[in-house]
Amino acid sequence: MSRYKRPYEFIDLSLLKRIEKQLENRKELERSKIFKTCLICGERKSLFHFSVDRRSSDGRVGACKICKNRQSLKYYYEHKEEILIRVEEYRRTHKIDRSIYFQNYQRDHKKQLKKIAKAWYKENKKMIKKRNLKYYEDNKEHCQAIRKLWIEGHKEEIKKYNREYQKLKKGG
Ligand SMILES: [Zn+2]
Repeated sequence: MSRYKRPYEFIDLSLLKRIEKQLENRKELERSKIFKTCLICGERKSLFHFSVDRRSSDGRVGACKICKNRQSLKYYYEHKEEILIRVEEYRRTHKIDRSIYFQNYQRDHKKQLKKIAKAWYKENKKMIKKRNLKYYEDNKEHCQAIRKLWIEGHKEEIKKYNREYQKLKKGG
């Protein structure tokens, strides 16, 4: 019995391969559009990791946000004195109360400052503990006196805390 060829059997396989290749190329192009290589760390990251820059050809800055943050922190520490002088000058010429300036700064940068402090603590944990211990050893009497004073001033809170703690211990 003779058999008719089905329509799909007429399709040229090389044509399918070509279409597949084209699709792949298009995908690769899309991928390269939403990814960018950081000029500083060299990592390939999605565009969201780069700040907007209208002057650049792809609309984003060359370095990723992490590298930019690190760069500005580095700049801050290397130019701390200049910056402080500039801030002081600004404060003086604009007659802004220093305490208000710092209050506002701390309020506006709360999250960032907390993050930096946390990272710094994590990075220097051992050194900080050692320093605190050394300070305690060197100033034992002073530290103990402060502790006593603190306990004196927080008697009610300590009692309340102990009660809560006992309750928790029984309950749990
Ligand atoms: Zn980077």
